[in-house]
Amino acid sequence: MSKIHIVSNRLPFSINRKEEDYSLKPSVGGLATGMKSIYKEYDGNWIGWPGLALDDLKADEVTKIEALLHKEKCVPVHLTNEEINLYYDGFSNNTIWPLFHYFTQYVDHSADYWEAYQLVNQKFADRAIEMAEDGDTIWVHDYQLLLVPEMIKSKRPGITVGFFLHIPFPSYEVFRVLPWRMELIKGMLGADLLGFHIYDYERHFFSCVRRLFGYEISFNQVHTEDRIVVADAFPMGIDYDKFHEASASIMQKPVQERSDLHRELEKYFLVSPERQLILSIDRLDYTKGIPHRLRAFRRFMQDYPEYRNKVTLIMLAVPSRGEVDQYQMLKKEVDELVGAINGEFGNINYTPVWYFYRSLPFENLVELYNSCDVALITPVRDGMNLVAKEYVASRTSHSGVIILSEMAGVAKEMGEAIIINPNNEEEIAESLKRALSMHICEQRERMIHLQDRIKRYNVFKWAREFVDALDRVKKVQSDLLAKKISDSIQQGMRKQYDKAKRRAIFLDYDGTLTHFHKNPQAAVPDQEVKDILKKLIADERNLVTIISGRDRATLEKWFDDMPINLICEHGVWLKKYDHDWEMLTAVKNDWMPFILPVLESFVDRTPGSFIERKNYSLVWHYRKAETELSEIRAKEIKEELTGLVGNLNLEIMEGSKVIEVKNGGINKGIAALQFIKNNGFDFIMAIGDDWTDEYMFRELPKSAVTIKVGIKNTSAEYNLESVNAVRRFLASFADE
Ligand code: UDP
Repeated sequence: MSKIHIVSNRLPFSINRKEEDYSLKPSVGGLATGMKSIYKEYDGNWIGWPGLALDDLKADEVTKIEALLHKEKCVPVHLTNEEINLYYDGFSNNTIWPLFHYFTQYVDHSADYWEAYQLVNQKFADRAIEMAEDGDTIWVHDYQLLLVPEMIKSKRPGITVGFFLHIPFPSYEVFRVLPWRMELIKGMLGADLLGFHIYDYERHFFSCVRRLFGYEISFNQVHTEDRIVVADAFPMGIDYDKFHEASASIMQKPVQERSDLHRELEKYFLVSPERQLILSIDRLDYTKGIPHRLRAFRRFMQDYPEYRNKVTLIMLAVPSRGEVDQYQMLKKEVDELVGAINGEFGNINYTPVWYFYRSLPFENLVELYNSCDVALITPVRDGMNLVAKEYVASRTSHSGVIILSEMAGVAKEMGEAIIINPNNEEEIAESLKRALSMHICEQRERMIHLQDRIKRYNVFKWAREFVDALDRVKKVQSDLLAKKISDSIQQGMRKQYDKAKRRAIFLDYDGTLTHFHKNPQAAVPDQEVKDILKKLIADERNLVTIISGRDRATLEKWFDDMPINLICEHGVWLKKYDHDWEMLTAVKNDWMPFILPVLESFVDRTPGSFIERKNYSLVWHYRKAETELSEIRAKEIKEELTGLVGNLNLEIMEGSKVIEVKNGGINKGIAALQFIKNNGFDFIMAIGDDWTDEYMFRELPKSAVTIKVGIKNTSAEYNLESVNAVRRFLASFADE
């Protein structure tokens, strides 16, 4: 069975040091829980940083720690203090974290951070590659390791790579700010499957891929030069039963066994059963909207004075990244707001905000979830927010109301919560009133629906779905690769080729022999192409024909020094190397004055697009135009032209970033057939990359070797992944 290995910044254990002795303490976070089930079941390793800096450890300590981790199938990536400082605190938390959460004002674009990020990502990738064999899967996690997928794939294409991003992926307008935006996307595209919490992040990612790389995206597949990469949304779940069962058992405990916190909470209600509690739990991070929440609570106390002395906000803020300036400022702001609210509305018997700046053990968290009537979760940006799900799982009584920010990924799954805009204090204050006064029947109805869903799509199901999706991606990729030309297929072709006495070789130009250029006139044949063609032509058994949509003048100019045949304008014109141009089919161009104004109106409205006028066709080019706009315009133009061309016997052809209007009844297939008619060819080969070449693949005799360039659906028999692959392939035939 092939293995699944996990790579994440941290290993799922922390290391406890007691004098000279070391032990491992398992992490309880969602990722550790979900992934443990996978890497154990699939006999893999977990690769990550163990949490201690290498400079603080002696050699024998490293050995001891490694031995302990080895027993748990964990493989450490050791990092020095400097690396942690630059890669983790630096690029991960001071560059990517604020950028991906839309806090562009906090983004630090330090080149040192970026340097370290690349080096450390390479360390993780190298360690992962050492542990994996071809056929295995490596599942990489989160924003600290965005470059690792490509680093693995480029060295070991036989390894399947999954990647999951646990934070938001921002919109292009924000992402583009980063100087290293291309590198990050390229890194991520090394994965075969990319997972995001919600569809919005996936669509932002696609938008960046489209705009920065111009790759085609159909449904949820990105077509890169040589691979298909799939992206999908998998909302991460929690270990529902763990919270639910812990909550049930804590509530059944006899009073003397209850925790101090639990007794404190009970005392609060003893004063008056009418009292209610609002819960707020997060890391003290600027993305969590804690000051906004406090201001909204103050507004609630002002607008609804009847709740004073009756409602308390329990605010747990877990210390986080305390050495960073922005976090220190945030702490100060929160401390001051809590003080101000308690000063304004509190009295000797009543504290409106109970503020804890610390983390709490699991049992206490569950007690809080269980005891609080309302969960107030209002991040200004949050990839998912697991606290919301944990609250739901812990409500054994099925009561309780969640007020939830629309900016948290989890809001997409929680239609039954009260959804608010975290910047709207008035709306939050009103929602608090609504939640605190919601009838118990309505609370239960909402909560039971939420519980059903969160229980079903738990963290184990989440992990399983991702692994199953990876299997499906592998199948899609292998179906598309089924047409790939293996060494033995190529040898077979070569035998046929060697035996043949007369060979016809049809080669499309743009996207086949040469890469696309933003300016089509710049795609002049380079020396490599010329050398390959010259060698092919030198064999007198070969009749080589460039078959292109280009106009006569361009092809003639580019290939005038070569005895080569040319078919241009998709089959209107033919030029045998020692003859003049001849028209293969009688065609007209008197329709152009009707169509040209339509195309011109699209040029006016689509900056960067332009019209190419050939003798017998008109082409609207949009490769240089803004990707998303031009794709919409391409749909519009087709629709508009379809209504016009019918009576004129014209055809609309869609090529690679072009829409061409031409006479009907002419195509590369008809032209190629005419060309080989009665000529006794015993070997025919055709290579092309786009839609117009499909005519050729379909019309040529079954015995012809037909090859599509690019991993796309095609009627051709075979596939070559790129222009470079075509060149290598042809060169191997050209070399005797
Ligand atoms: N949490 C914890 N101890 C605490 C408070 C919170 O372990 O004292 C956990 C909580 O149970 C949840 C996680 O911290 O699983 C917070 O996850 P979330 O997705 O809400 O936010 P993140 O901190 O990952 O941005």
